[in-house]
Amino acid sequence: MKTEFGIIGLGVMGKSLARNFANNGFSLSLFNRHVDNIEENVATNFINQFSELSNSQGFDNLETFVNSLQTPRKILIMVNAGKAVDMVIDNLLSHIEPGDILIDGGNSHYKKTDKRGQLLSNKGIHFIGMGVSGGEEGALTGPSLMPGGHMDAYKLVEGFLQNIAAKDDNNNPCCKYIGTEGSGHFVKMVHNGIEYAEMQIIAEAYSILRFINKLEPTEIASIFETWNHGDTKNYLLEITIDILKKKEGDTYLIDLILDQSSHKGTGSWTTIASAELGAPFTLSSAALNARFVSALKEKRVTLSQLYEFNENTSLVNVDSLKKAYQLARIINHYQGLDVIENASNTYGWHIDLKNTVSVWTNGCIIASELIKKIISIIETNSNILESDYFVEVIKTSHHSLKDIVLTSLNHNIPIPCFSESLNYLNSVTQESGTGNIIQAQRDYFGTHTYKRKDDPTGPSHHTNWKS
Ligand code: NDP
Repeated sequence: MKTEFGIIGLGVMGKSLARNFANNGFSLSLFNRHVDNIEENVATNFINQFSELSNSQGFDNLETFVNSLQTPRKILIMVNAGKAVDMVIDNLLSHIEPGDILIDGGNSHYKKTDKRGQLLSNKGIHFIGMGVSGGEEGALTGPSLMPGGHMDAYKLVEGFLQNIAAKDDNNNPCCKYIGTEGSGHFVKMVHNGIEYAEMQIIAEAYSILRFINKLEPTEIASIFETWNHGDTKNYLLEITIDILKKKEGDTYLIDLILDQSSHKGTGSWTTIASAELGAPFTLSSAALNARFVSALKEKRVTLSQLYEFNENTSLVNVDSLKKAYQLARIINHYQGLDVIENASNTYGWHIDLKNTVSVWTNGCIIASELIKKIISIIETNSNILESDYFVEVIKTSHHSLKDIVLTSLNHNIPIPCFSESLNYLNSVTQESGTGNIIQAQRDYFGTHTYKRKDDPTGPSHHTNWKS
């Protein structure tokens, strides 16, 4: 009997998604490549492990896999982003037919997705670039899905995707059509950019409580538990509470983990993409750079022995820290959404921001109460920072953020995301900035010209600055 849906790539995500599809009653064809003595019978062995996969068929031959699927074939590719995706698509091309639908669920770069979509569309094959968030557990129990591509193609697989997706508070699936071309992967990339900063802000709050207030990890976990209610509740805070409580014998596991963070590239892509659009995403970039600095362990150890700075002794107020935490998160989300809006306008993707943000309310790594608040605000405010709610929150928290930044700096504690959120907020709310100095400098050394305040839409001017 032919099956309803195919999955290629049974790694961490492919396996969990396969079980999720099966748990939702779909019959599956599952494929994993064969590598002699290394990857043999991966699909059939996997199927034999889980009773819910009893209606599934396993393959390591691509042709028989493709032929086992009902037409039009619906195939989800869950392999590592990059060359592997191109190889899988190339191999599939000699077996699939016009009308079939390929979905790339990996973290592919949105520009690659555009190109692949174009190539496949010339052959009559539908292509969907879909962001998937939620990690291994989310993939199994309900991920957040961000599909982009042609709407007609999406409609053919919508029922499958919405079935396996997480559900929001109103039981709506956290899977909505994002827009054309690579927009789904773009939105997933920005999701990861927001995620980088969300993680870093928590790391900074931890650092402040651990190294300024000298609290033990479990004491910090208790404080975070009090934060993990109402407007500041979120998934990343929740998992950090568990992390801080974990012990190996008498030692906190966190103290045994090397302080060098790594990354897989989506943070760098976000920084590059936002720079290309001229849309500031300074928190994400600060978080990315914090990872880069953390990786310089040897250099840090050497320099730490050369430099010893004086420290202040005042402690931070935990209520102020909570306010600063939420304010930094607001700026982070604001910047991320602004990048998406910019991309949508620039690339003509017609992204519905409210729809898009709604898929982040559950099942994904950045799921939070703040996202829900943002959705209710986007409805009536095109710029969330102009909403009464955020104006009030920001006005009442600005002082706390400043206190936290100043105290941390006095203690020589690096807080790139907290300080960047304050810098950004101070810049974006400043009526007159310093762009005039930059323009004058550019005109001085490169005759780049400038506009005058008394004639902003008039001609550009050049000055002979030396005379
Ligand atoms: P894994 O490394 O666990 O699995 C990768 C899969 O791709 C394996 O089945 C592997 O086969 C297969 N593969 C690799 N190269 C090839 C190739 N050239 N031809 C055929 N198959 C190949 O990765 P994940 O499941 O974690 O991730 C898959 C994608 O999903 C990535 O793009 C990742 O960024 C994205 N993603 C991951 C998340 C996570 O939390 N892990 C969350 C969201 C997205 P084999 O076993 O034979 O090596």
